[in-house]
Amino acid sequence: MKIAVIGTGYVGLVTGTCLAETGNNVICVDIDAEKVAKMQQSIVPFYEPDLESLFKRNIANRTLTFTTNLAEAVKESLIIILALPTPPSEDGSADLSYVLNTAKAIGPMIDEYKIIVNKSTVPVGTADKVREAIASFARYEFDVVSNPEFLREGVAVNDFMKPSRVIVGTRSEKVKKVFTELYAPYMRQGERLIFMDERSAEITKYAANAFLATKISFMNEMAGLCEILGADIEQVRRGIGTDDRIGKQFLYAGIGYGGSCFPKDVQALARTATEIGGDFKIVDAVMKTNYAQREKFLDKVINYFSADLKGKKIAFWGLAFKPETDDLREAPSLYLINELLAEGVKIIAYDPVAMENTERLLGDRITYAKNQYEVLEDADALVIVTEWKNFRNPDFDLMIEKMKKKVIFDGRNLYNLERMQELGFYYNSIGRDIVQ
Ligand code: NAD
Repeated sequence: MKIAVIGTGYVGLVTGTCLAETGNNVICVDIDAEKVAKMQQSIVPFYEPDLESLFKRNIANRTLTFTTNLAEAVKESLIIILALPTPPSEDGSADLSYVLNTAKAIGPMIDEYKIIVNKSTVPVGTADKVREAIASFARYEFDVVSNPEFLREGVAVNDFMKPSRVIVGTRSEKVKKVFTELYAPYMRQGERLIFMDERSAEITKYAANAFLATKISFMNEMAGLCEILGADIEQVRRGIGTDDRIGKQFLYAGIGYGGSCFPKDVQALARTATEIGGDFKIVDAVMKTNYAQREKFLDKVINYFSADLKGKKIAFWGLAFKPETDDLREAPSLYLINELLAEGVKIIAYDPVAMENTERLLGDRITYAKNQYEVLEDADALVIVTEWKNFRNPDFDLMIEKMKKKVIFDGRNLYNLERMQELGFYYNSIGRDIVQ
């Protein structure tokens, strides 16, 4: 099939590449000319595991091409997928300007039947708005489909290739046929392709993200209770996760969720509830708890050093909002760094892939290290923010050798408490006793 993907971010580029991999002809469009030029030279513009080889192979096969020319891509394609940003507006609702302006631009470009697919995360009713925006210009028949994306950064290729489900919001039998064929290579069993109406598809994405965020905030509040009551959240997690009705995943206490999706999507769902005159009490509480969690973690560091904080050298392990990505959007690390800098702390950081993006945001306000041990040189404390695999089982002797003080604040509960005790660390983690 001939497909155009508009927007080549984490969703658009992964989608375009994976669709090309299964034999489609994909043209990716972006307004960022520099990014398009890079991709035309086979350079992946961001870090995403497993993407590069597929990307390069399909460019070489000419099944994956890049352009800034929207009209050319629309003309060439039957399916036009919008994978555009929907950032939060000031009032918390999703900003639809990227999606709707592109829909308006596409209208007059349609010269035969087309299927416009919305993959961006958008509030209920957006498919109707996109239809209206196109219809005011289009002279040909077209369909608008809501096809929210569930891939996770860090495992995006795998998620696209082996989706747990694909949600397609459409009432058109013609579109259903096309989508059954389009997604057939990614699922042996067709029941993972779920058709529904557009509005239900749109809100399904928000329901999924808000539910997952709720699990995280629930565990974070539970961790707060454990700290006060002398219980261990890791044991509680194991104790409840074995119940199939609860499930093992997303039960990790930490410093709260970040990233480009959960914060904005949870907020947008709350906003939707307000707009229709109600409120969504659980979702409001989830957001409050999430924000409080990073504040509580910061307080652990501030309280430990109390009046002596100014001038201390604090090392950071991890900057990205989660492992296996270079994405820093809404990363808790940025909040912690900014607050500690304001207290006069010197910060030196290491992240396997997110340092370039951090430098773009923070410049020389912090120092960057070449590896996870260099960052510890003379440090008064280590703060662990992202649970990259190479932080899980480090060389503790080398750490002790490098650090000025054996002090760790672990926002991801990476280490065993007894081990920390044996090694003589002050170790303050989440929802567990402090080792000192
Ligand atoms: P992104 O910010 O990584 O990428 C967006 C891309 O769109 C950028 O390359 C930008 O230059 C381009 N762009 C902006 N305006 C354009 C225009 N008018 N024409 C062409 N290109 C344009 O965004 P993302 O993370 O891929 O997210 C896209 C959508 O998918 C959002 O609605 C997001 O909520 C949703 N989503 C994201 C994820 C994720 O993990 N990142 C997962 C599921 C859904």
